[in-house]
Amino acid sequence: MSGRFRRRSNLKKALATEAINDLHHVMKESNDQSLSDASARLILRIGKKYGARMKNYTGIAVCRSCKLAMVPGRNSTVRIRSKSIKYTCGVCGRTKTMGPSFRG
Ligand SMILES: [Zn+2]
Repeated sequence: MSGRFRRRSNLKKALATEAINDLHHVMKESNDQSLSDASARLILRIGKKYGARMKNYTGIAVCRSCKLAMVPGRNSTVRIRSKSIKYTCGVCGRTKTMGPSFRG
């Protein structure tokens, strides 16, 4: 009986995931680096708080060192291998790999 509101955190997580998806869209579509960076910081903050992550690869990533949006061709380089995508942050040089067997 008392478990009625237990789903609330799942709902919050679902909303957080949705917000992250939206923010990724903003990062990808925005030509304004400062807006992309603001979205990147929000994504990291929401992800940390709710444990929500991106579900799909959207062509853009967030550097966890500088907390900046890594936009290919703008401030990062991307290398696509057979089944993974390797991002290199042009600011700090940190690399990030994404693919079917990677999360984050
Ligand atoms: Zn970086």
